[in-house]
Amino acid sequence: MDLMLYNTLSRSKEKFIPLEPGKAGMYVCGPTVYDYAHIGNLRSYIFADLLRRVLEYNGYEVTHVMNITDVGHLVSDADEGEDKMAESARREKKTPWELAEFYTRDFMNSMELLNLKKPTIVCKATDHIREMIEFTQGLLEKGYAYRIEGQGIYFDVSKFPEYGKLSGNRLEDLQAGARVAVDERKRHPADFALWKDAPPEHIMQWPSPWGPGYPGWHIECSTMAMKYLGKQIDIHTGGIDHIPIHHENEIAQSEALTGKPWVRYWLHGEFLQVDGGKMSKSLNNFYTLATLQERNIEPLAFRYFCLNAHYRTPLNFTWDGIAAAQKSLERLRQGYNNLPDDGQPAPPQMLERFHRAINDDLNVPLALAYAWEAVRSPSPGAKALLDRFDAVLGLNLNAPQVAKELPPELARLLEERNQARAARNWAKADALRDELARRGVTVKDTKEGTVWEYNPPA
Ligand code: AMP
Ligand code: ZN
Repeated sequence: MDLMLYNTLSRSKEKFIPLEPGKAGMYVCGPTVYDYAHIGNLRSYIFADLLRRVLEYNGYEVTHVMNITDVGHLVSDADEGEDKMAESARREKKTPWELAEFYTRDFMNSMELLNLKKPTIVCKATDHIREMIEFTQGLLEKGYAYRIEGQGIYFDVSKFPEYGKLSGNRLEDLQAGARVAVDERKRHPADFALWKDAPPEHIMQWPSPWGPGYPGWHIECSTMAMKYLGKQIDIHTGGIDHIPIHHENEIAQSEALTGKPWVRYWLHGEFLQVDGGKMSKSLNNFYTLATLQERNIEPLAFRYFCLNAHYRTPLNFTWDGIAAAQKSLERLRQGYNNLPDDGQPAPPQMLERFHRAINDDLNVPLALAYAWEAVRSPSPGAKALLDRFDAVLGLNLNAPQVAKELPPELARLLEERNQARAARNWAKADALRDELARRGVTVKDTKEGTVWEYNPPA
C-alpha cells in the first residue's frame, strides 16, 4: 500500500519513495535547550514520533536523527538579537553548558513520558563545530558566502536563485518588506549568518579561520543532517514556523554546497494554540507536562489529545479539552483491558483500513476512531488488533493498569467476570458483579466496554 505524505515543497500529497529501498532517513529539528519545552513544542515531537511509527508500520528501517540546539539560535530566527542560550544563562545565573545539560535532560524525560521513541541519533550542535566550520569554508570557496568584519560569515541568498522555493517567498518581496534595522553591510536583507564573530564576553565561542566565534543556527541542522543521513535525505520535519527562514536557509546552504536537491520530503506540523492564541510566558499560559501533571493530567492524555487532530491542522488547547482527553484515554484503556485474550489474530480487513488511514498522510484521528470502534463492538481478535494499532498510536494500552490500581484479588474477580460475560454466562457475571460491589468495586457495562470504580470499604 502506498504511503502518501504531504510535501511542503510541492504543496501536495506525494507517494513516499525512499532513496534506498526499505530504508527511511528522517531529520527532526530538535529543541533549543534554554528553557522547559512547552506543550506546543511537544506537539511537534509527537507528530515526528507518529511519522516514525507510520514508517515503521510500513516496514521501513528508520534512521531518526534529532539535534539539540545548544548554541547559536538567536532571539529572532532571522539572526537578530542575542543567543537564546546566553540570554537565558544570564537570567538563571548558570553557564550555557549547565543550562543545556539541565534542559536537555528535562526534554528527554518529557519524550519518555509521552512514549516518544528515542531517536536513533541525538546530536548536539556544540559537538559538531569543526564540521560546521568546514561547511562554511566550502560555501566561501564556492562563492556563496562573504565576510562582514566584526559580524561574521554570511550566506549570499542572491547567488541561490531558488531561494524561497519552500515558503513561496520571493527575494524581491523580502527586500521590500525588510526592516531598516538590518546591518546595511548585508548584501540582501535575507542573507543569514553561517558563522558569528564572538565578542569577548560571549561564553560559547570557538577558534575558527575567521577568529573566535560560534555557528549560526541554520548551519547546524544542515551539517548534522548531512553527516548522519548523507548528502540527500528522505524526510525533514519541523514546526510550520520553520518554513520561511530556518528551513529555507537550510535548503539554500545545503544545495549550494552539494549542487544537488537535498531533502525529498519536507513535512511540517501545525501549531498548538492555547485558548485560541499564542502560548507565552507573559500571558501566563506557558504550559509544560509538569503543569498538566499538577492538575492530574497524565502526559499520555496530552498525547491522546494531539492524536485527535491531524498534524496539519491547528489545535486549540483548553483545560476542558484536555480533561475530556484524560477521560477518553482512561475509557479506551479500560475498554482494552476488558477485551478477552482470545488468542485470535487481528481481523485482516480492519487492519487494512487502519493502514489505509495512517498511509493517507497520517490520518491518525481516523485511525483513533477505528480503535474506539474495536473497543465498542469487539469482534474476535480485537485485542490483537488494538495491539497493532497501538504500535502507531503509542498510548501504551497494554501497560498493566487494572492490577496497578485494584488489589490483585479483586482484579482477578473482575477478570473472571469479563470471561463470564464473554462466554455469555450472565448468571455468573451478575453474581460476580454483586460480589465485587460488596468489596467496593462498582462495575458498569457501557458502550465502550466495562468500566469500574474502586472505593475500598472503610
Ligand atoms: P524550539 O525549541 O524553539 O527550536 O522549537 C522546537 C520545536 O517546537 C520546533 O519544531 C518548533 O517549530 C515547534 N513549536 C514551537 N512552538 C510551537 C507550538 N505552539 N505548537 C507546535 N509546535 C511548536
Ligand atoms: Zn533545524
